[in-house]
Amino acid sequence: MKKGIIQQSLSGFYDVIAAGKIYRTRGRGNFRKKGIKPIVGDRVEFEDGYLLKVLPRRNSLVRPPVANVDAAVVVTAATQPVFSANLLDRQLIALERQKIQPLIFFSKTDLLTKEEYRQIAAIAAGYREIGYPVFCAPQPFEDDQLTALQGQLQGQIVTMMGQTGAGKSTLLNHLAPDLHLATGEISRALKRGRHTTRKVSLLSVNDALIADTPGFSSYENFDMTVEELPKLFPEMVRLAPQCKFRGCLHIKEPHCAVKAALENGIIMNSRYDDYLQFHELIANQKPNYKK
Ligand code: ZN
Repeated sequence: MKKGIIQQSLSGFYDVIAAGKIYRTRGRGNFRKKGIKPIVGDRVEFEDGYLLKVLPRRNSLVRPPVANVDAAVVVTAATQPVFSANLLDRQLIALERQKIQPLIFFSKTDLLTKEEYRQIAAIAAGYREIGYPVFCAPQPFEDDQLTALQGQLQGQIVTMMGQTGAGKSTLLNHLAPDLHLATGEISRALKRGRHTTRKVSLLSVNDALIADTPGFSSYENFDMTVEELPKLFPEMVRLAPQCKFRGCLHIKEPHCAVKAALENGIIMNSRYDDYLQFHELIANQKPNYKK
């Protein structure tokens, strides 16, 4: 019996990558009976061309359907479209919620004026301070930065995310030059996907497995509680033990370490503003009875 990771699935067949080799397998009939649907990224046991077992998942994304995602590169346009801290924070909390390590990659920094770059670099430093790996070189695809990014992705299952036009496929092309993905091809493929079944596969790139279909195109679902929300902001998690009240939401409570840090400029204003906005969004949501 061997262990591996499903690299792609094609009409009932699953290609499993194990020790650098790819094995074509098929699912056993009893998967369907048990309601198990193996997906790309699943860690599996297999033998003689048959998948025997799907191991428990650490997480699983719906779009694209990938399991066990370790890290996501949040491709963030520094300009064109204009940088949005709000959009970045939405993506970060979506990832934190799935326990996926975010890496922030600023694209299009080469289109900025010196002054604009200085501003973006200051924002990048703020996110680095929170603890996120941030890539914000003046030339986004310079070798040093790509090498550093690849180093961070080693041994992990990775997805790319980010708004349309941020340059996800351009970055993917730089990480995996053999791919020759046409820029814009991915978004067209996603549109087509409404009519056909778009298959996702994992590309083996310098000891990382990178999903060839970017994920998280929508971050409008705030399906967490107001109590869970501050736990998705690492800088608040660190300060919360110093708040006077356990379960402090860092809004109206007295002796709140987060608000003190905000006043001292330790927490970014934009992050706190987004936190308040998300809090309001969740508080005003109609209850979801589907759960
Ligand atoms: Zn507090």
